[in-house]
Amino acid sequence: MERTLVILKPDTIEKGLIGEIVTRFEKVGLKIVAVKLLTAHKELVERHYPADREELWVGIGNKTLDNYRDLDMNPKDSLGTNDPKEIGKMVRVWLMDYLMKGPVLAMVLEAPHAVELVRKMAGHTLPLIAAPGTIRGDYAYDSSYLANSNKRAIENLLHASGTKEEAEYEIPLWFTAKEIHKY
Ligand code: GDP
Ligand code: MG
Repeated sequence: MERTLVILKPDTIEKGLIGEIVTRFEKVGLKIVAVKLLTAHKELVERHYPADREELWVGIGNKTLDNYRDLDMNPKDSLGTNDPKEIGKMVRVWLMDYLMKGPVLAMVLEAPHAVELVRKMAGHTLPLIAAPGTIRGDYAYDSSYLANSNKRAIENLLHASGTKEEAEYEIPLWFTAKEIHKY
């Protein structure tokens, strides 16, 4: 049995897609063992996206650079730098603003291979290239071009833990042991 953290981000709540997305998880057989609607505060979001996870931010910075390269655009023109670490730090601030923009629905889902299963259902980080049939592919169209040129995070409806280790770090940030149910 494995647990994963899912956060339905503010755009999901704004679009009225909570039911649609939760239904998908239920139909697959993922068990909802914790759930709450909350407005995330700065401290929580800071811990969810820790500044000291350098490899994460350099990775996001490099992915952003790849996106610019694919578009044949110079990141220095719009972002003022082409250093992956600097860009990663910039995206981190956008991401924190995104998660605090409105209420989010946080939940813990349980199933064998829950982490992998939910990532598969969520689809690619970039909605524009997420496959049809995935949550991001079916209900969003945002792209890195749109997001970066507006200096905001890519709006892709949900967060889902990327690995078992990430899930084990993230779940206690959002839920106390008492809020996680056994049934
Ligand atoms: P995820 O695990 O699929 O959500 O993707 P990551 O962990 O790599 O990135 C975290 C979040 O940062 C994503 O869900 C997006 O909202 C945002 N993001 C990732 N890459 C970029 C980017 O290149 N530009 C912008 N503006 N946002 C990004
Ligand atoms: Mg991630």
